[in-house]
Amino acid sequence: MASLINLSGKVALVTGASRGIGRACAEILLAHGAKVVLNAVSDPSALKKLAEELAKKYGQTCFAMPADAAKPEAITQLYKDILQEAGRLDILVANAGVMEDALIGMITPQQIEHTLSVNVGGVINHIQMATRLMRRNGKDGGSIVTLSSIIGRTGNIGQTLYGASKAAVMGATLSAAKELAGDNIRVNALAPGFIDTDMTAKLPKGIREKRVASIGMQRIGTADDVARTVLFLASPLSQYVTGQIVGVDGGMVI
Ligand code: NAP
Repeated sequence: MASLINLSGKVALVTGASRGIGRACAEILLAHGAKVVLNAVSDPSALKKLAEELAKKYGQTCFAMPADAAKPEAITQLYKDILQEAGRLDILVANAGVMEDALIGMITPQQIEHTLSVNVGGVINHIQMATRLMRRNGKDGGSIVTLSSIIGRTGNIGQTLYGASKAAVMGATLSAAKELAGDNIRVNALAPGFIDTDMTAKLPKGIREKRVASIGMQRIGTADDVARTVLFLASPLSQYVTGQIVGVDGGMVI
């Protein structure tokens, strides 16, 4: 049976695509025919190597464009490069994020500045710039998927800062969805639960086991579990879906 999802001719930008959820999103979009721009920040040469590897694996165009989500001027340049190299933008997966856990009394001003500038400022700047390119698509519009978290909904000890940033992502997503619906630019957020990536690998074993025990499906999620939902929201299968916060958490929050 032919795949229900064919993204050929579409261009997607995935932020934070060097590893974890972002990399899985980039791979699933490439596998379904999209050209993909990989973005991350810390190791431009490793990102270039990854883009070459994925281009070969999927027989698809894959660009590496490093840029710091915390730097608005770097984001502006990134979109100029996308327009020049790829000619258009149809899908944004605003996935780049940081998690700096600290009990309330231990949160530093530097942590506040860093987390909010990457997790909130970065997402808003990406939505703004992506919208400028997507509006050029006329009635074809585009799809923006942001990465929030269940912590933005339920809160968690030691995650006042991270939870605030992820609640802000939900708020930004809902307002942008209202503002952009008339342009056929859909904006949805994912609220993943506990997903097995570098971000969660640093949790102490006891806390990790407790978290897994709180999941209805009794297993930690994979980056691919999240990427499959991103694929749905990025594709025309969800053409009438906007302004939604979709939990991907194996029944952790019902
Ligand atoms: P991860 O493994 O730690 O990967 C984070 C990605 O973000 C990396 O590609 C990293 O790039 C990139 N990044 C960090 N700071 C950046 C910056 N300033 N500019 C550009 N890129 C930057 O994280 P993950 O677990 O895959 O999480 C991805 C997203 O899902 C995050 O927004 C996270 O909050 C959210 N989420 C994760 C979970 C979970 O359980 N894992 C649950 C809910 C929500 P470098 O490699 O260059 O550092």
